[in-house]
Amino acid sequence: MSRGILTAMPFPKTRMRRLRASKGLRGLVREARLHADQLILPLFVAEAGSGREPIASMPGVDRLSIAELVKEAQDAAAFGIAGVMLFGVPGEKDGQGTGAWEEDGIVQAATRAIKLAEPELLVITDVCLCEYTDHGHCGVLGDDGTVDNDATLELLARTAASHVRAGADVIAPSDMMDGRVGAIREELDADGFHTTPILAYSAKFASAFFGPFRDAADSTPAFGDRSGYQMDPANGREAVREALLDVEEGADMVMVKPALAYGDVIAAVKQATGLPVAAYNVSGEYAMVKAAAAAGYLDEASTVMEILTSLRRAGADTIVSYHAKDAARWLAEQS
Ligand SMILES: [Zn+2]
Repeated sequence: MSRGILTAMPFPKTRMRRLRASKGLRGLVREARLHADQLILPLFVAEAGSGREPIASMPGVDRLSIAELVKEAQDAAAFGIAGVMLFGVPGEKDGQGTGAWEEDGIVQAATRAIKLAEPELLVITDVCLCEYTDHGHCGVLGDDGTVDNDATLELLARTAASHVRAGADVIAPSDMMDGRVGAIREELDADGFHTTPILAYSAKFASAFFGPFRDAADSTPAFGDRSGYQMDPANGREAVREALLDVEEGADMVMVKPALAYGDVIAAVKQATGLPVAAYNVSGEYAMVKAAAAAGYLDEASTVMEILTSLRRAGADTIVSYHAKDAARWLAEQS
């Protein structure tokens, strides 16, 4: 039995309820806390259309024009949220995903607009090709119809550099190609961007919880699925190995995605890497809470706060969540 944990004095000398007796006592011994400055709000910015286009499976989340995106970013900053994570919905797609690295592409233009309006707010850009390829996969296809890992690396690196030139503060590759963190680090360093951190989606699982996101980003694969590059949800040890490889390649922060069903993975990755760990509370997790709350089955605010706090308890330093603005508001109301 480990020393330091008092198990020697059972009931009635030990009464666990003593420290739960009042709000003050509960606050005094609370282990995991949530702050707005640990939250990142994901946003979808669309090239086509104007204003706000609601996403049916994600009530309260819209595809935004750049002007609306800037308003949303200003709101996020006013709530004390640390940053926004940008996902682009381009007007045109092709086999290579060339829209991903265009200097005047949608994410590049959106990044410039936010940094101009709200310079202190962190802009974190998702780096992947699936929103830009006409086949919807996260890389270019080889002759055999599967994603060609090595041919994709250069395109991801090019995309990342174009984001940093536009003003991105943090680069977040989500493609799950082997070697992409190293390839991006090398490209950024060669371009003089030594100080731009990489937040690697290290353990991204082939998850059913991504369903609503694909409606939002219009990135459903035209054929097959992503199990050839995203991780098997059954594998925790492999997730740690993925994270350690990303650390070796130069990742500054690592991410686990999804979050809600992966608390064990967050804890294991945190312990193994010692790096700041992000957890992505994904679209399906958001949709479940919104649907249950709309039906009157759950109280939305307390459910969301419990979920986000549980991710902090699991070891997440940073949480990416569609609930970020609501959570920041609820936190402000509590204090
Ligand atoms: Zn992708």
